[in-house]
Amino acid sequence: MSRRPSDYQRICVKIGSALLVDENGLRREWLQSLCDDLKMLTDAGKEVIVVSSGSIALGRRVLGLPKGLLKLEQAQAAAAVGQIALAQAYSEILRERDLSAGQILLTLQDTEERRRYLNARETIGTLLKLKAVPIINENDSVATNEIRYGDNDRLGARVATMASADLLVLLSDIDGLYTAPPQQNPDAVFLPEVPQITPKIEAMAGSAGSAMASGGMKTKIDAGKIAQAAGTTMAICSGKVMNPLQALENGTRSTWFPAQDSPTKARKRWISGHLKPTGVVHLDNGALKAVRAGKSLLPAGITATEGAFRRGDAVQLQDTQGNDVGRGLITYDFGEAALLIGRNSTEIEAILGHPGRAEMIHRDDLVLTPDCSSDS
Ligand code: GLU
Repeated sequence: MSRRPSDYQRICVKIGSALLVDENGLRREWLQSLCDDLKMLTDAGKEVIVVSSGSIALGRRVLGLPKGLLKLEQAQAAAAVGQIALAQAYSEILRERDLSAGQILLTLQDTEERRRYLNARETIGTLLKLKAVPIINENDSVATNEIRYGDNDRLGARVATMASADLLVLLSDIDGLYTAPPQQNPDAVFLPEVPQITPKIEAMAGSAGSAMASGGMKTKIDAGKIAQAAGTTMAICSGKVMNPLQALENGTRSTWFPAQDSPTKARKRWISGHLKPTGVVHLDNGALKAVRAGKSLLPAGITATEGAFRRGDAVQLQDTQGNDVGRGLITYDFGEAALLIGRNSTEIEAILGHPGRAEMIHRDDLVLTPDCSSDS
């Protein structure tokens, strides 16, 4: 496993509130130095995604709200005010570096419900294709306590895995994981690498987390679990310095949680192992050949469908003999899929009355039975 961000391709960076906002408001110079780092990565052909906290911290200062715990409605109002300022700062500072910023505000449901998850995933993917930098936060103005993440560590991990990022960097006010809270325990040992999150590691995080501010080590370990399971390597390092990603590149102290698989392999394992198919799609021989060659499944190669599947559901693929040849996440609800059977992808808009995706099942969402495929 490499400990250098530049050895990864799609990098999600989570930024904690304390790094962005202090008693004087936004720490613009620091943000400029971070954006220099993002520019360095994009210039090297990397894709970067930012999950940024700071809306509530910034908004509460603008609104003059008291110190201490805010009531839910105060936090929601603070987020509404702070998020505009935050997005504007990112947009301006990235534009000075010839980069466009695209804001996405997510709720818990957007990352947990498969259909909404697919929509968010598409938007992030399209922004990256267009060379824009997605700037993501939780939609705190509409999220209530029961339906919110509340911390951007786990949100960052869900975004990173949703976008199939191969690296997630948590920029924090602590430089990594210790066996005990370092401020209170002089014998605390720093852990440079956590190959697997064991109950022992979780116990360390539990004790460290209680001593720290919002987020803490517990949510970082939760993030590590989400990331590792989805093939995303995670790093925790201090963001207190200027140019924190450059510092990480130069080997600054940090804790790494290596992923065993690539995001694509992990995703395919999840599709084949954890999802129960809710329908069947029958392929003609041409389509079977195409998907075996690593292509997406297009409507033109489908001869029939079965079942009341919904967009994002897992479906089984069958060949002309009725053999099970694989599984995939389908792009269309069964009603729309039925209208598209055997049709050319260029006809989709005319048939459905709205522009739709060209693939019935995207190749990243397709897993062929082992004897037919070498890449799953
Ligand atoms: N979404 C929150 C905000 O932008 C931050 C959550 C966190 O501190 O992790 O203010």
